[in-house]
Amino acid sequence: MLVVMETSASPEMVRQVCLEIEKMGLTAHAMPGAQRTAIGVTGNKARVDSDRILTLAGVRDIIHVTKPYKLVSREFVPENSVIDVDGIPIGGREFIVIAGPCSVESREQTLAVAQAVAKHGAKILRGGAFKPRTSPYSFQGLGQDGLKILAEARQQTGLRIVTEAIDTDTVEMVADYADIVQIGARNMQNYTLLRKAGRLSKPILLKRGLSATLEELLMAAEYIMSEGNTKVILCERGVRTFADHTRNTLDLSAIPFVKRMSHLPIISDPSHGTGRKDKVLPLSRASIAVGADGIMVEVHNKPEEALSDGAQAITPEDFARLMDDMRKLAPVLERDVP
Ligand code: PEP
Ligand code: MN
Repeated sequence: MLVVMETSASPEMVRQVCLEIEKMGLTAHAMPGAQRTAIGVTGNKARVDSDRILTLAGVRDIIHVTKPYKLVSREFVPENSVIDVDGIPIGGREFIVIAGPCSVESREQTLAVAQAVAKHGAKILRGGAFKPRTSPYSFQGLGQDGLKILAEARQQTGLRIVTEAIDTDTVEMVADYADIVQIGARNMQNYTLLRKAGRLSKPILLKRGLSATLEELLMAAEYIMSEGNTKVILCERGVRTFADHTRNTLDLSAIPFVKRMSHLPIISDPSHGTGRKDKVLPLSRASIAVGADGIMVEVHNKPEEALSDGAQAITPEDFARLMDDMRKLAPVLERDVP
C-alpha cells in the first residue's frame, strides 16, 4: 500500500501517518519526492484496512500496490530515482561510464588502467578485489590489499570506486573502501548478503542473476530497500541461453522493461554480457540507445596477461574510441556524456 500525502502536508503530518501505520504492526517508509511525500507500507499479509489512514491530516490518497515488489516499483515512486555516488549522479541525464579491470591484479596494473580510463572520461573505476570464480583454482583476488590499491587509485584520479562483496563476512570491509558495493550475478539471490547490504549507507550495484527473471531481480532489490538502503543501481549483464556465440546473452530488452516496472536506475555490462572484446563497442552503443543509465566495461592495459576475463577486456585505446562514440550518440538520446 502507498499513502500519497498532500503537497502541503507538513513533516509532522507525515510523522503522524507513519506512527499510525506502525501502530497497525506494519512498517512505514517515508519517501520524499519532488512534488509530495509518499509513504510506502510493507509487512502486511493481506489488504490493509486503509480507512483509518485516509482520515488523517495531510493524506491525499491511498494506492493499493498489487505487485510483489513494492519499494522498487514505479507505483511507489513515479519519477526516476537518481542515486548520488559521492557527487556523481546515476539515473539522471548524465550517462555514466564505469570502467576498469575485471580484477585488481597489482598496484601498477590498476593505477595504469585507472589513469587511462579517467583521462578518456570514465567517472567510476571498477575492479574486483574479491572474485567469485567458477573454478576454486583460478585467481581469487587480492582481498583487502586489492581494496587498498583501489583507494589509492581513487586518490590519484578522483574516480569513484565500485568493487564486489562476495559474502557477509567481508561486505562491511568492502563498504569501508568502496563508493559503490557490487553484488554479483552469482549472489543476486543470496538473501542474507542482500539484507546486510540493505543496512549499509553506501549505494549498491545489483547485477542480474545468470537465469533471473526481471521480477526476481526486482525482488532482490526489494530485499536491500526493505532494510532501509534506497540507493540501489541495477545492472543487466546477460543471462544464460542456448546461444553459444557469446558468453551470455545480453538482454537489452530488459532495460526498457525495468524502466517501466521500477524507478531505479539500470546500467548495462556489455563485457560480461558478451564475453568478447570486439562486441563491447557495438553493445555499448546499443545500451545507450535502449535507455540504459550507464555502462560498465572491462579495460586492461595488457589484456593478454589478464588474470581473469582477458577475452572480454578492451585496451585503453579501444576505450577512447568507445567514449567518442558515446559522446556522438548522447545528444540524439537526450543524454550527456561529459
Ligand atoms: C564482475 O563484474 O566482476 C562480475 C564477476 O560480474 P558478474 O557477477 O556479472 O558475473
Ligand atoms: Mn570480469
